[in-house]
Amino acid sequence: MYLGKCIEKCDKRELFANPLHPYTQALLSAIPIPDIHHRKDMDVIKGEVVSPVNPKPGCRFAPRCPYATEACMQEDVPLREVSPNHFVACTCLL
Ligand code: SF4
Repeated sequence: MYLGKCIEKCDKRELFANPLHPYTQALLSAIPIPDIHHRKDMDVIKGEVVSPVNPKPGCRFAPRCPYATEACMQEDVPLREVSPNHFVACTCLL
């Protein structure tokens, strides 16, 4: 979920093994590893969070997404099945 909208839906094993939405990827990269000898780079999400009260048209993650294009800001991006039982709301996966 991102700002009240489902952006990725699949089995939990598939989600952790193959996250496809850029927000899911950033969230999973932020999971800490409890090992002081293991250094991990996180995807830091930059940009501005849009208002959840009056969101603009298009993908709600677009102002923070490094892959955003003009198409992402034009209209809502519905969940689409990109592989069996793996649904993602992202134009870059079409
Ligand atoms: S639809 Fe566009 S802005 Fe939204 S996550 Fe996908 S690439 Fe990024």
